Amino acid sequence: MPNIVVLGAGVSGLTTAYLLSKDPANKITVLAKHMPGDYDIEYASPWAGANYMPVGKEGSDHERWERETWPYLKEITEKYPEAGIHFLGTLIYNRKKDQESDTGKWFAELTQPDPWYKDVVPDFKPIPDEKLAPGVDNAQEFTSVCINTAIYLPWLVGQCVKTGAVFKRAVIKHIADAANEHHTGQKADLIVNCTGLSAKTLGGVMDSKMHPARGQIVVVRNNPGPMASVSGTDDGETECVYIMTRAAGGGTILGGSYQKHNWDSLPDPNLANRIMKRAIALAPSLVKPGQGIEGLDIIRHGVGLRPLREGGTRIEKDEVNGVKVVHNYGHGGFGYQASFGCSVETVALVKEALQSGPRAKL
Ligand code: FAD
Repeated sequence: MPNIVVLGAGVSGLTTAYLLSKDPANKITVLAKHMPGDYDIEYASPWAGANYMPVGKEGSDHERWERETWPYLKEITEKYPEAGIHFLGTLIYNRKKDQESDTGKWFAELTQPDPWYKDVVPDFKPIPDEKLAPGVDNAQEFTSVCINTAIYLPWLVGQCVKTGAVFKRAVIKHIADAANEHHTGQKADLIVNCTGLSAKTLGGVMDSKMHPARGQIVVVRNNPGPMASVSGTDDGETECVYIMTRAAGGGTILGGSYQKHNWDSLPDPNLANRIMKRAIALAPSLVKPGQGIEGLDIIRHGVGLRPLREGGTRIEKDEVNGVKVVHNYGHGGFGYQASFGCSVETVALVKEALQSGPRAKL
């Protein structure tokens, strides 16, 4: 009966704990500073839209994680409406002039006319050239999902609790200290590190490759219909435009920005204005005919920091001060859409690590 501590209760920690908890042999403690229900700049998951818009480069691990995640999200959407996910039509617009910008590079795979994910998501089809607005070089539509994170994260907690996992609040200074926090009072056999951006400052990890990509959003009560996203904007290369309506009354998220190395937790009012104007230009049905941003019914403004990692997500076995660790962090702007692919791989590494004995001392 292995004692496992999952450190972190964002989508990465919760998805990993959910999969681990399917094996009744695992005794799991989920340990975190922030839990679902909290809104904090150190906690990315609640701020996400969140939807499934694949961005992994063809042939990469990232592609595989996103490809493997779709069937799980589809199944949850179909079988468990209480999880707060729904299917929604999606429109993607590409402007070639954005291809060198930060947002254009981020969306390079999503916006290309013949992407790998065309056979993964349902109803993929190109939008004919004659229907494209001026300035748009190619566009496509498909069916995707939009996740109401305020419902989905607690749903994941519920799935774990149901099978015996215990949730505990704590702030850990050094990764190895998490081994002393297992709910049984015994030392944990293994730690799964799902600390997101905080992996940069966590003792025993201190990953200097981690940095934020700041995302500012406006949440409104208006409902435009399908989700939509463009490769970039004319307001600077760190700004983007996307809209998505969350399931089960979660409101519509208007985004956004992709500001690398920017840690500012406060919404910038000027950026908020640009976000709202761009959203209406993209989806005029957000407001009544003739209305501008005054037609938007604002629920809140928000800022989240996407936990980006130079060189990509870290899913890897490790040992720190004699404690077995498996890392699963650094999911940038794709933590939900790659969640199951990454967590399946993490769980496989957990099994491997638990089967191997302690590392021999030299
Ligand atoms: P986090 O959610 O940040 O969780 C980290 C956890 O670790 C927290 O519980 C924290 O308290 C805990 N922790 C950290 N350090 C310690 C410590 N020392 N001691 C104890 N606990 C600790 N992704 C998508 O797939 N689709 C989208 O549409 C999408 N949209 C986004 C929009 C915005 C505006 C933003 C900001 C992000 C978006 N993302 C999206 C990205 C997604 O939100 C992240 O990739 C994901 O939330 C990362 O989850 P995580 O669990 O790795 O980290």
